[in-house]
Amino acid sequence: MRKSTIVTALTALITFSGTANAEDHSETKKSQPKLVVAISVDQFSADLFSEYRSSFTGGLKRLANGVVFPSGYQSHAATETCPGHATIMTGVHSGRAGIIANNWIDLSIERDDKTVYCAEDERIEGTSFGDITAPMQGDYVASAWHLLVPTLGERLQKISPKSRNVAVAGKDRSALMMGGKGVDDVYWWKGKGFATLKGRNISPSLTALNKSIGEKIDRARPAYATPAHCASRSAKIMHGDGKSVGDYAFQRPDGAARIFRLSPDFDHAVIAAATAMFDELKLGRGEATDILSIGLSATDYIGHAFGTEGLEMCIQMSELDRSLGEFFDILDGTGVDYTVMLTADHGGLDLPERMSLQGMPSAERVDAN
Ligand SMILES: [Zn+2]
Repeated sequence: MRKSTIVTALTALITFSGTANAEDHSETKKSQPKLVVAISVDQFSADLFSEYRSSFTGGLKRLANGVVFPSGYQSHAATETCPGHATIMTGVHSGRAGIIANNWIDLSIERDDKTVYCAEDERIEGTSFGDITAPMQGDYVASAWHLLVPTLGERLQKISPKSRNVAVAGKDRSALMMGGKGVDDVYWWKGKGFATLKGRNISPSLTALNKSIGEKIDRARPAYATPAHCASRSAKIMHGDGKSVGDYAFQRPDGAARIFRLSPDFDHAVIAAATAMFDELKLGRGEATDILSIGLSATDYIGHAFGTEGLEMCIQMSELDRSLGEFFDILDGTGVDYTVMLTADHGGLDLPERMSLQGMPSAERVDAN
């Protein structure tokens, strides 16, 4: 189990409205947007946003030119992915939302394994959460039933039943906590493609996307080019387990699908899935305001594996910026009146090996393994 990264509760909240009639501010103010795009970038701390803010040229630059709350933070204790995402679309603290951590122990449940995963339904016979250090490995049925309060999408549906509430994310807990129990369409990454709730079918556009990703995910991919502002970050750092990080640009050999999640490719896939749902469901083009929640998880996986200050994170920030810019261009191209909100579930710290080189000599791993 990796224990090197101490999670902090720093998140920035940034928003903008991208509309066909954006010049007419009085009209925009009066009218409700037809689509709210709520983006969570996992482990995207306010520090990370501030550090790279001047280098953004794409979607994040556009967001940074909107309304920015640069010192936001999550105020609950267990700043993990599930409680963090449970606050974003509900507006309540994680405890009130019923999501106190990613995993907890409930001695009252009937199965032998008393560990409960936040986004499972342990009432279903035959399930187990499995190894708490590997939450994606459990034999569980993904569900939002632990979420005790409604999300924005569910609230909107009460007012306007024709409003659609859609969530797509790299992690099931991100998608389910942002969408809530009443989510209309929900997808998350599972192994080699996008999955949905038990008993539901994968939509035609996501089926096609899964096929196209499946055809290339096991294939070798070249390294990402190093943006000029990232060159100075490329420095090999010896890791606690004897390997090195700091100069890896996500080059993958054949058959390395398992490390797909630890690369900007993962966010590109989730944004492709969000785009597919936007197109297929014609979000923002119905009678009521729709919600599209997007959980981008690559920053978190990259932060855990390579730290927050190396070449890897620099490339990831650049790719996230570019990819979001392309996504907003697609939304613009449809003329849909939309608003974007971007925030994070929690932050992260750099690897202790690099932190000690950068002026924190006391930084060390709790567990060398
Ligand atoms: Zn997270």
